Amino acid sequence: MKRIITSLLALLGLAACSQQGYENMDVNAFASRIADQDVVLLDVRTADEYDDGHIHDAINIDVKQDGFIGKAQSMLPIDKTIAVYCRGGKRSANASGMLVKEGYKVVNLEGGIMAWKDAGMPIEKNESAYEVDGFTTQSGRTVKFHALTHASIRIEYDGREILVDPVTKLGEKTIDYTAMPQADYLFVTHEHFDHFDTLAIKQLTSDKTQLITNRRCADMLGYGTVMANGDVLQLADNFTVEAVPAYNIAQEHLQFHPKGRDNGFIFTLDGLRIYVAGDTEDIPEMANIKDIDVAFLPCNQPYTMTVEQLINAARMVKPKVLFPYHYGQTDVSSIPSQLEADGIEARIRHYE
Ligand code: ZN
Ligand code: ZN
Repeated sequence: MKRIITSLLALLGLAACSQQGYENMDVNAFASRIADQDVVLLDVRTADEYDDGHIHDAINIDVKQDGFIGKAQSMLPIDKTIAVYCRGGKRSANASGMLVKEGYKVVNLEGGIMAWKDAGMPIEKNESAYEVDGFTTQSGRTVKFHALTHASIRIEYDGREILVDPVTKLGEKTIDYTAMPQADYLFVTHEHFDHFDTLAIKQLTSDKTQLITNRRCADMLGYGTVMANGDVLQLADNFTVEAVPAYNIAQEHLQFHPKGRDNGFIFTLDGLRIYVAGDTEDIPEMANIKDIDVAFLPCNQPYTMTVEQLINAARMVKPKVLFPYHYGQTDVSSIPSQLEADGIEARIRHYE
């Protein structure tokens, strides 16, 4: 009887193991296994978690996103062993089970990258080549702003790429868009060379890219979704854009940006409100712009605003955080202290 029970238990144990179909490993076993040639290392956390620190050479496919298996099949060779990890071991166990069903040989890191770090093992970070500021939306999604240059802003939102006024070359500075993911949404405020660059647009455009601009740029490009001042577009769930006026009011500067031609944009990303002003002065319409979390206001002469005008504009818009941008050689260093008493946090980034 005892023997029968023992064999039964052994059988059950075996059954459990083959049902699971992959091998759990502690940090040491995992580390020596991934040193082998026939192993592909897979991180199944979100792109943000991956960027914040991952194991060297790991491929990132988020197991929580739709199409995990399809992506895995296109990226992971079936004749290799897949070494999977996540933060604490739960998502990777789930992913391992899914991969085993597709015929992969899988090993899973018990305790995830937390255990890996606790054991003093090395991790790598993905540093952006540009300064990055992160914000959180109302339902906890991340929005990141990469300060590319001047008026060129890269916005990452929940796996989507949003580019505003991307240009490849400005003065001494060149921006390599081929090193970035292609855009899901590409916005161009107006036709000037420091905002509208067909090479950057070409490099960032794929089949799925939607380009949104004003009438003049759309005519020059021969395509694009046209927005006029006041238009509102729902681009996706939790993503709307409103085109707002951007123009000069100083008599001697009217010719640069005549009223009604160019756009500023207000993006609402899952409740987070972002105002990118475009080339404008402190126009009265700014007083109607409400509930802005993050604002980008320009600050150079003779095309946009002086520091004094920018302070006035910031007090009209009242953003929580302000990025002076499009400032060229203007000395913007006094802006943060000038706006402190207004409860506006101004951050100076490399948008010269
Ligand atoms: Zn301009
Ligand atoms: Zn400009």
